Amino acid sequence: MNILVINAGSSSLKYQLLNPETQQVLAKGLCERIGIDGKFTYKPDGKQAIKVADVAMPTHSEAIKAVLDALVDKDNGVIGSMAEIDAVGHRVVHGGEKFAKSVLITDEVMAAIEECNPLAPLHNPANIIGIKACQSLMPSTPMVAVFDTAFHQTMPDVAFTYALPYEYYENDKVRRYGFHGTSHKYVSQRAAAMLGKPIEELKLISCHLGNGSSVTAIDGGKSVDTSMGFTPLAGLPMGTRCGDIDAGIMEYLMNKYGMDIKEMLNVMNKKSGVLGVSGVSSDFRDLEAAGKEGNKRAALAVEVFEYGVKKLIGSYAAAMGGVDAVIFTAGVGENGGGNRASITSGLEFMGIKIDAEKNKVRGEEIDISAEGATVRTLVIPTNEELMIALDTAALAK
Ligand code: ADP
Repeated sequence: MNILVINAGSSSLKYQLLNPETQQVLAKGLCERIGIDGKFTYKPDGKQAIKVADVAMPTHSEAIKAVLDALVDKDNGVIGSMAEIDAVGHRVVHGGEKFAKSVLITDEVMAAIEECNPLAPLHNPANIIGIKACQSLMPSTPMVAVFDTAFHQTMPDVAFTYALPYEYYENDKVRRYGFHGTSHKYVSQRAAAMLGKPIEELKLISCHLGNGSSVTAIDGGKSVDTSMGFTPLAGLPMGTRCGDIDAGIMEYLMNKYGMDIKEMLNVMNKKSGVLGVSGVSSDFRDLEAAGKEGNKRAALAVEVFEYGVKKLIGSYAAAMGGVDAVIFTAGVGENGGGNRASITSGLEFMGIKIDAEKNKVRGEEIDISAEGATVRTLVIPTNEELMIALDTAALAK
């Protein structure tokens, strides 16, 4: 079975053709600068990536057409015809309270996704354009929507309720939703497999630490709390996002510098986080290098981030009344051995202790717990495309 996974943004589109049974990725790539000039990258399995600069992509339709043409190309294609694509899985950012699971896309589902647009005005419309472009090019192929928010719909009201007037929840659906759900779900399932226990019996804390970061408490396979909120701006400080701050700061700075809410949010989304504190970079590798050269603000930025993760681990263990394993995933979680060491240091009192040698391993599933640790610490490379393909295959059958 071949599943095409599509992650459509406003001006870019990532794709992967994969077989969820064998987990083989047949081809993958990226369409960029859609609506501008169009840049297309295609990498068939076992071959060098092919970059094509001048594929005109006025809309997402031409981008998807370029993907399909490349997949069936007689020299570099990986399938004989489009009929070999059994289903398409679409990443959709926001499913609101309507979607607690992935779904087969119908007209009713499309309407419900559109109703979620106000909750993710930058992302959902782009996801919808990607779905419509695929539908017009492959009208008889089943399509599935996989939501970033769906995994977190199991959160109890005590975890998702903001202490604002309750009518803002009832009338306007203002609540914690959480994101990165596909990643948290994937790594929690892998953790259960690694630990050789049914997921129903495990309390897990999953730390997805990348350019965007979130931590999730997963009790018995269900998300019971997560650090991102109504939007992905909440929780940890990230590459360029501030994470949780005192909302009163906004009024103070807006008054002082004559900023409107748009400018304020631009600061909080694009100029804050580890970039804002360090003044150096949003990339953790740059910060590590600058910190080693004595740049104090770069070191502080990383420390503020690590301290945030440590506090979430403690609070989610409290929320679940214990924890069996802590999972590190995504760019920083998978690669940043130094970050993992700092985050876990001082947590010995709760049974978390990592082995310095094992912590040097990169990019593979490994239990890095030290001897005597009563809580396991796992590094698990995330694979959102595979999770989307697995859900898509299950629903398309
Ligand atoms: P995105 O949220 O864009 O998917 P990723 O999960 O790819 O982000 O994570 C990107 C981050 O991972 C970058 O800040 C990058 O510096 C960091 N990263 C990648 N490799 C390493 C490494 N070896 N050590 C520390 N951080 C790393």
